[in-house]
Amino acid sequence: MARRKKIYEGKAKILYEGPEPGTIVQYFKDDATAFNAEKKDVIDGKGVLNNRLSEFFMTGLNQIGVPTHFIRRLNMREQLVRNCEIIPLEVIVRNYAAGTISKRLGIAEGTQLPRPIVEYCYKDDALGDPLVTEEHIAAFGWASQQDMDDILSLALRVNDFMSGMMLAVGIRLVDFKIEIGRVYDGDFQRLIVADEISPDSCRLWDIETGQKLDKDVFRRDLGSLTDAYSEVARRLGVLPQSNVAKPTLIN
Ligand code: C5P
Repeated sequence: MARRKKIYEGKAKILYEGPEPGTIVQYFKDDATAFNAEKKDVIDGKGVLNNRLSEFFMTGLNQIGVPTHFIRRLNMREQLVRNCEIIPLEVIVRNYAAGTISKRLGIAEGTQLPRPIVEYCYKDDALGDPLVTEEHIAAFGWASQQDMDDILSLALRVNDFMSGMMLAVGIRLVDFKIEIGRVYDGDFQRLIVADEISPDSCRLWDIETGQKLDKDVFRRDLGSLTDAYSEVARRLGVLPQSNVAKPTLIN
């Protein structure tokens, strides 16, 4: 069997050269890392769940006209995506305070923010992905002003879509991170949503109980990560509902 070419191995995914030019195979690993890989574990089944959930969210985004890199799922752990040039920024959208914004600004976790707040971090593991301003982004040429306008618009559209999807199944979208890629069509370039959207990169809280259904379960040792992710998948109808009792037909 021919060995395929590995392009990149990250903390949670491996990228292989795709079968057609301009495509990449994105493989979801079971590895979980937190605090810039200071905490690590292998969580059986996490990759399978994230592959399915990312497919679900990216397909929905494509359907409402928010362009993403997703082409199709190939198998349990792999999806075919469009090759793109990743802009070296983590784009974070926050609806409620949690995590680093709570620490940085002293806002109690769970406080609703006056409006969605978009933050940018420079993608650099060695530096711990530091928060940067648009001034840094422009000065260092990571993205142009037009790119920044497009990134903001994409981030807010993803936020509206994801918030609505989650609200419909009793989950609050507290915050999330996306990555943006550049693709070229002849003389033109376009920005698309890339990487993944999954409970690894979102904060998801049950609206009724406040139970965390995202990677904070791993970061803060709050129980089984796969139970949390499976619950998100089950509510969204992404996993077969084999454990749901069949309705009893009367009359
Ligand atoms: O840690 P912080 O509060 O800044 O994270 C905000 C959101 O971005 C969280 O949903 C977190 O899971 C996500 N994030 C991520 N990858 C990073 C940093 C943050 O997915 N490297």
